Amino acid sequence: MHILIINAGSSSVKFTLFKKDDLKMVADGIVERIGLKGTKIHTKNSEGKWTSKETRVTDTRQAVGLIADLLTGKNDSDIQTGVDIAGIGHRVVHGGEKINCSVVVDGRVKQIIKECFELAPLHNPPNLEGIEACEDIFAGVPQVAVFDTAFHSSIPEYAYLYGLPYALYKEDKIRRYGFHGTSHQYVSRTAASFLNKPLEELKIISCHLGNGCSITAVAEGRSIDTSMGFTPLEGLMMGTRCGDLDPAIVFYLMEHKQLDSQQINDLLNKQSGLFGLAGIGSSDLRDIFEASESGNRQTDTAVEVFTYRIKKYIGAYAFALGGIDVVVFTAGIGENSPLIRELACQGLKNLGIIIDPKKNAIVNKTCREIQSNESQVKVLVIPTDEEKEIALQTLELLHEER
Ligand code: ADP
Repeated sequence: MHILIINAGSSSVKFTLFKKDDLKMVADGIVERIGLKGTKIHTKNSEGKWTSKETRVTDTRQAVGLIADLLTGKNDSDIQTGVDIAGIGHRVVHGGEKINCSVVVDGRVKQIIKECFELAPLHNPPNLEGIEACEDIFAGVPQVAVFDTAFHSSIPEYAYLYGLPYALYKEDKIRRYGFHGTSHQYVSRTAASFLNKPLEELKIISCHLGNGCSITAVAEGRSIDTSMGFTPLEGLMMGTRCGDLDPAIVFYLMEHKQLDSQQINDLLNKQSGLFGLAGIGSSDLRDIFEASESGNRQTDTAVEVFTYRIKKYIGAYAFALGGIDVVVFTAGIGENSPLIRELACQGLKNLGIIIDPKKNAIVNKTCREIQSNESQVKVLVIPTDEEKEIALQTLELLHEER
């Protein structure tokens, strides 16, 4: 038997198939550019071999149909055929205040996902389409929704409220929700098992540094604060998002640059962050490092701003937690960039954080410790695996259902 994970986005549907017994990945893939020119399906088999094909898919339902045909052997492919699916886990971005854990999908859950369309207009609608397509195509197979926001539902009121009129929270639900919850939960669990310590006894600062970046303070296995807020725009500086900003800058842009709300939204979400500050036309750190090596001072500054923000949040969360046992680095940048880890932890000796340069320089895909022998805090690099966390949570719920 197998567990299928579906991540339906606005123009793509990602899927991963795990063996139910040991959660070994047997197939992985993505249908991308759905409804656009050049729609393709890329699939990876259990040996890690990728295959790509052009396809004519115009919506989420057709994409899920195509994936079903591949997995059940109706279409020619070198990935698993004749698959029997015991359960399907869906990544859903926003569960608002009504969802605080993963849930088996039913009418009520679908209604809540719909109610959160306004909070996540780019993500929740395609997420729900993915669920409804699977209900038709894999009729009778139990479906589970795993929410990006759910892990942060334990954040206390004093940390999730903004200093705005209370009515805006009560009536419009404007508050901190936080995102990347599945990743922060996965690396926290993994850190505890790697260190052979009960998760409940650890104070963890989890740094998810990818295109999107967020930091979460985890106490007793629960999120107590996180850097992303009402939307993923708040907090750390990111690939193209600005992160924390004086809100008055928005009025300045309206008045002095005559930008409207859509243009400002675009500026803050897509043209800022490393992309905007480095000014080389790329948000990819590898390109930014390359430019730095050829003497571009502005790219050095962008990296300084990026890492200074990470350090500030580590410091803030050390105090929010009342101490730190573990700092975790994960996602594309966190897992692959020794320099970013080094700069983010530089000068944190007084907090008990000291990185060992040799251990930090090792590049591989395993879970590893990079702190020096004198460091009181463990510093870990943990490859994140959101799909596996969704599969784990799906499996747990399927067992409970029995
Ligand atoms: P997403 O948030 O889209 O899931 P990832 O977690 O895959 O993103 O992170 C992507 C980012 O990771 C890239 O934009 C790139 O900046 C960074 N990255 C990947 N590999 C390296 C590397 N070897 N060195 C520095 N940065 C890297």
